[in-house]
This record gives sequence, structure tokens and C-alpha cells, in this order.
Amino acid sequence: MPVRHIAAGPAPARQGSAPPGAEGPALEVRQLTKVYPNGVRAVAGVDFTVDGGEVFGLLGPNGAGKSTTIGMLTTAVTPTSGTAYVAGHDVVTEPLAARAASSVVFQDSVLDRAMTGRRNIRLHAQLWGVPSTSAARRTAELADAFGLDALLDRPVDTYSGGERRRLEIARALVSEPRVLFLDEPTVGLDTRIRYELLDLIGRLRSRSAMTTVLTTHYLDEAERLCDRIAVVHQGRIVALDSPAALLARLGPEVLELRGSRDHQGALALLRARGLADGAAFSVGTTLTVPLAGSAREAADTLAALGDGASSFTTRRPTLDDVYLQLTGSSLTGD
Ligand code: ADP
Repeated sequence: MPVRHIAAGPAPARQGSAPPGAEGPALEVRQLTKVYPNGVRAVAGVDFTVDGGEVFGLLGPNGAGKSTTIGMLTTAVTPTSGTAYVAGHDVVTEPLAARAASSVVFQDSVLDRAMTGRRNIRLHAQLWGVPSTSAARRTAELADAFGLDALLDRPVDTYSGGERRRLEIARALVSEPRVLFLDEPTVGLDTRIRYELLDLIGRLRSRSAMTTVLTTHYLDEAERLCDRIAVVHQGRIVALDSPAALLARLGPEVLELRGSRDHQGALALLRARGLADGAAFSVGTTLTVPLAGSAREAADTLAALGDGASSFTTRRPTLDDVYLQLTGSSLTGD
């Protein structure tokens, strides 16, 4: 559905300033770019800095460039240009050190299904050079925290989807990464398991100073889990802030005007009365207007217009509104 902008201005991404280094930020990304051999510019120069202990979200629809960004940060994808430091290590010139400081849980499982859960965790610990006594202690802690005690000695083949995802995260955590990357962690899970997993991811933060970077196209997931969200559109970061600050751009309420013959007239009137902000946007026949004044006053003003063909509602803004306003397309694909 085409989106028409009435007036909107994307905010620049926030710039970090700390120099890269082991004591510096967990992630430092500058002008990171990936152009695939087929000419697709999947990531078009992104900048961000993530601190220790932060939960940072890359939010955008399919194809926005989130997985490619994670791929570069985990050294699986070679950047075309720009720089990225993970725990102070350059992903291009020090890939082993960068990888050692992080763990990743991909959308697609990397577990060996014929092996037990315990064996899968141990294998990851060995690859990451974790001494076996530490690995055993840490496995026991994680099994307890993630409710995996009764499952660990069964082949992964016998696990449910949610159990596999929990094991996958436990496996990633056994090496005590400084940065945990979760690429679309809840895709394909049913609602109950999805919420269990969100709860678990939410609890991770209280356990350590670990930084978590997750990609998602679910608004609720980003809003619930993330300290800050980078809104990604066509390989670029079009906004970067806390969920609350992103939502605050639209004010406390938006008015949704549907089916009116004269959206522009209604908007002009609301603006003239100081009831509407500048950055209204429309999708199809629906005009969304961030309200500057009270919703009641706006409703009375529109009712006085007497346009029987229009109907309107007021509601709290969502991150999808933020996304629509910034990019002209919807995260939810509506
Ligand atoms: P997201 O994770 O946000 O869904 P991706 O990073 O997977 O986005 O993809 C971004 C763009 O890059 C898409 O247009 C996708 O088709 C393209 N792309 C991803 N991987 C490759 C690849 N290996 N080769 C060519 N193009 C790719």
C-alpha cells in the first residue's frame, strides 16, 4: 500500500564518541556497508555504539539489512567498507578475537540434533576455549536457569521447538560472551513459547554486564526488551533511541482519520487550531495525525466539520506509526 507523507523528517542516527578498546563500548560501528556480489546494497553505511549491559534492537521489516549487519558483526559476512569493533576487536583484522568475545543465536538452528543437549553445549564451550571445569559449572547453572535440567541428556531431536531455542541460547551463553547476538529469536515459535522466551531474554540482563543485540520485526518484542532501538530501513538506520523516546516523537496520542473526502481540509483545520503536529502521514485512505492538543478538542473540531463520510479514532501511537512516519512503509506489512 503506497504511503503519502504530509510532512516528516527522519532524525539522524545517534553518534557515539568513545574510542574502540577493550574497556570501551561493547560495539562500535562506523559507516559499515555491505554490497553483495549481485549488487544488492544490503547495509548502506550504518553507525552505532552499544555499551556494556545494554539490550540493543535492530528493528525493521524483512530485507532491511538486519541479518547482514549481524553477519558482519559476527565475522560471517565480510564488510565492503566501514569498521566494526566487538569488545574493541576489529571484525576484519582481528576476526578470531572479535568472535571469541561474542556468541550468536541464528534464526536457523545450528544444533546437532543427533547429539544430546549437554554434548551440544560442551562442543560450543570447546570451540570457544572454555576450560572443561568452568564449562561444566556454567552448564549446570544455565540448565537450572533455563529449565533444561531434565532435558540435557536427551538427544536434541526429542526437544520441542521452544526447548531447542532455550538450549540454543544456553549454548551461546556457556562461553560467557561479552556480546550476545540474537537474530530474530522468536520467529516460528507459537505465542506461549514466544512469551516464555521473551521473559527469559528479559531476565538475562539482570545476570551480567553482557550486551545483547537482537534483530526483530516484532514491535512488541523491541519495545519490551530493548533499551535502545535502531530503526532500520533499506540498509540505513533512520532513527536510534529508546522505545519511549521514539514513541514520544508522535506525542501522547494520534488521530486516525478514515474515509474522509477531505483529509487535507480536516488536517488544515486541526493545524490552524494548534491541535495537530506537522508530521502527519497517510496510508491509503487513512490519515494519521499526531495530536498536539487534547483528543477531545480534536474530535469536537472534526465533528463540527460535519463530514459524514469520515470517521476517526484516537489512540496511543505505536512503533509502527514511528516507522511509517520515518519510512513511508509499515513494519507489519499492512
Ligand atoms: P533482514 O535480516 O533485515 O531481513 P537481510 O540482511 O537478510 O535483511 O537482507 C538484506 C538484503 O540483502 C535483502 O535484499 C536480501 O535479499 C539481500 N541479501 C541477503 N543475503 C544476501 C546474499 N548472500 N547475497 C545477495 N543478497 C543478499
